[in-house]
Amino acid sequence: MPVKCPTCGTLSVQPYSPFCSERCASVDLGNWFSGKYAVPTDAEPDEEELDAIIDAMETENADISGDDKATDSQQGAEIMPFQRK
Ligand SMILES: [Zn+2]
Repeated sequence: MPVKCPTCGTLSVQPYSPFCSERCASVDLGNWFSGKYAVPTDAEPDEEELDAIIDAMETENADISGDDKATDSQQGAEIMPFQRK
């Protein structure tokens, strides 16, 4: 049964499910940390992770008008902070 990406509504793709891409997963993670959702946790996100998320989101905004090829591959590691846990 298809699942839609909660970020953009596109059908999700493995291995990013329920998101359609690494990028959307990161955007969603950024939303959590920025308090868009209530997060019932007592663990504070560490500052480095927040910086990485903020960087990723700023880069994402810049990407809309900029060229995407180079940044896409470079960002891969940077915008997946949760993989480092
Ligand atoms: Zn998406």
